[in-house]
Amino acid sequence: MNQTIKTLLEIQEIDKHVHELKENIRAMDVNVKTKENVIKILIKELEEIDAKIITLKEDRKYNEQLVEDKNDQIKTLDNKSALVKNTKEQKALEVEMSMANTSVEKIEDQIVSLLSDIDTYIEKRDIKQKEADSLKAEYELLSKTTDNKIKKITVAINNYLKKRSGLFNNIDDTTTTQYEEINRWAEGNVMSEIKSESCMGCFLMLPPQVSATVMETEQLVFCPNCGRILYIYDES
Ligand SMILES: [Zn+2]
Repeated sequence: MNQTIKTLLEIQEIDKHVHELKENIRAMDVNVKTKENVIKILIKELEEIDAKIITLKEDRKYNEQLVEDKNDQIKTLDNKSALVKNTKEQKALEVEMSMANTSVEKIEDQIVSLLSDIDTYIEKRDIKQKEADSLKAEYELLSKTTDNKIKKITVAINNYLKKRSGLFNNIDDTTTTQYEEINRWAEGNVMSEIKSESCMGCFLMLPPQVSATVMETEQLVFCPNCGRILYIYDES
């Protein structure tokens, strides 16, 4: 195996590590973002519950005012009863009184139901708030440990990249450019071994002279199908 191929294989090893480390960072970021989104949804739900509670409380206030008004009306009717002149007036007053009382009862029932709804929503809110608090604590811890991990991984990546550019110093510019171009899409799989006369990158059967050229010359040979740099593994 010629020296260039050996160096390129070393570079490829580094690229594989770097690719894997970058994937790790990406997965950790996704993990943190997912938790962040769950919290955002919970906060939105809490806001919706708060809005609902405010509406219910306003509704209760409105109904309590109605009861007050109706009670005033009943008081007025009560005062009028001393002034009735005949049975007709008496009857009319009784009907009015009974209607007012019925309506007070109805509104009071409505208030009881509103109070019970308010309690239900407050309970719901408490449960959701606890859930959100514990998720926030989890998120902060996760975010902190992830940051630390990412910092360490970034240091490792930079070390690999330093080593990588050192290795490229031993390689001519044309080969460097060719490697980098393939690496753009191959992401750490630029080099392809020939086994049983086939490219292991794309499994194309290669003409026999390809193996011969790879073995016997110093020139770089590319797979005619996938474009990767071909090599034949030997112990030398
Ligand atoms: Zn190929």
